[in-house]
Amino acid sequence: MVPDDVAPAAEPGPVGLDLPWATGTFPPDTVAARRAVWDELMGLALHEATHALATGDVPIGALVVGPDGRLLGLGRNRREEIGDPTAHAEVLALRQAAATLGSWRLEGCTLVVTLEPCAMCAGATTLARVERLVLGAWDPKAGACGSVWDIVRDRRNPHRVEVVGGIRDVECGDLVREFFETQR
Ligand SMILES: [Zn+2]
Repeated sequence: MVPDDVAPAAEPGPVGLDLPWATGTFPPDTVAARRAVWDELMGLALHEATHALATGDVPIGALVVGPDGRLLGLGRNRREEIGDPTAHAEVLALRQAAATLGSWRLEGCTLVVTLEPCAMCAGATTLARVERLVLGAWDPKAGACGSVWDIVRDRRNPHRVEVVGGIRDVECGDLVREFFETQR
């Protein structure tokens, strides 16, 4: 028997981690305010990228933010660390975001990544129905979001992704360049 004075189960609360913006202000309306938010999020992705250096992985970091501006997933390139050819930063961040939400559909979400995604990650981004991709440095050798291919905006694809490129591109590019210089 259920006592009738028990309060109904609370609505499930918001998932993910709170980031500094106020409720209802993500993403901001003005170009300048949006740019400030992308810069700040790229800072988090850059920080995550530096952790890849400890395992000899190419320093690339990514994160997924929900439509309400909460952090849902974080990832860095872990290919060498776990010996997995698919362990790119974006794939790991998308997987964690899906686990946080309890759904593979990441509609309304923003993926932030320090380097332009490759063909695999661009494919995963469209399959996850991500709304927006914010990228740091372009990758003229293997980028699939405008450089070599443009999988995320291909008209043959039923779901297309808004691309915001070049956010803190010098810092993001330098991190990868310096890594390869030390490898020589
Ligand atoms: Zn990739």
